[in-house]
Amino acid sequence: MTAAVHHDRTELSVVIPMYNEEEALPALVARLRPALDGLGERYEVVAVDDGSTDKTAALLADLRESWPELRILRLRRNSGHQAALASGLHRAVGAYVASIDADLQDPPEKIPEMLDLARRDGLDIVYGVRDDRSTDTGFKRRTAGLYYWMMRRLVGKQMPSQAGDFRLLSREAVEALKSLPDQQQVYRLLVPWLGFPSGQVSYHREERVAGETKYPLSKMIRLALDSVTGFSAAPLRIATWLGVVSFFACLAMLVFCLTAYLAGHVVPGWTSLFVAMLFIGGVQLICVGLLGEYIGRIYTAVQRRPTYFIGYDSAERSTASGE
Ligand code: UDP
Ligand code: MG
Repeated sequence: MTAAVHHDRTELSVVIPMYNEEEALPALVARLRPALDGLGERYEVVAVDDGSTDKTAALLADLRESWPELRILRLRRNSGHQAALASGLHRAVGAYVASIDADLQDPPEKIPEMLDLARRDGLDIVYGVRDDRSTDTGFKRRTAGLYYWMMRRLVGKQMPSQAGDFRLLSREAVEALKSLPDQQQVYRLLVPWLGFPSGQVSYHREERVAGETKYPLSKMIRLALDSVTGFSAAPLRIATWLGVVSFFACLAMLVFCLTAYLAGHVVPGWTSLFVAMLFIGGVQLICVGLLGEYIGRIYTAVQRRPTYFIGYDSAERSTASGE
């Protein structure tokens, strides 16, 4: 036990989703632990092992021997970053709950700063905002730029444009999040949407300390689709507008062809016919796909299946089920 534990309530929980982070874990602990011990307050670190298949679980178990503030949540299978985050937020007990990635792209030393700011100004949310992303790849920066541009249009201006999942929440904000019935939660959108008083701490985003990104393109697309369908029905309106536009284009073509015919010209038309058919077919497929995304969301919402199952919680020492 550290000498830091004086109070009987946990002031701070730090939730860290990790998926196959054996390489990053030692470096993370080396920086996180001094930063938290230095607070002189009671804290817990909730390490969410998102169904890792490498030595992450064994390393965590070892670490816990000498670090009593470390709490391990193990999900039964890989459920994704947002679901891992959800499980941690649902179980964390702190008066404030911070979340941070395991790869040291976000500096743990900023957590005490966030806590100070939240307490001093009575804030419920403190975002970690990246001052620049020069360490991310060009591709990542461009896709992220597009993502935040789109999301600010959907969620509103209160969404900081460079805030990921490095942030601090008050107990009240966590309870508000927990009360939402959404299934595929995208926290970086839901949190600003709550509308609690918020502040920002800017930081420099570093390179991943070790290992590779756990966000391949497929997961990025999934996150983007969940973000859009979870926050707006606007894309459905695109279908209507595409329909209106192609209807009038057709009408114009019809008038043109009829006039030409009456004037004694035959309009030659295999190519244009083919292009028009393909175009309309494409538009229709896109619209059906869009509809499908929303229906898929309704489908999972109706099933009400939990997005994760907790296989092990070191605070309980028993097997518990998901929420
Ligand atoms: N992560 C997770 N489950 C997943 C994918 C990622 O818990 O299925 C965790 C990962 O271990 C890391 C965080 O989510 O702590 C962010 O992932 P990563 O750093 O790979 O994403 P990037 O920074 O490349 O966007
Ligand atoms: Mg990362």
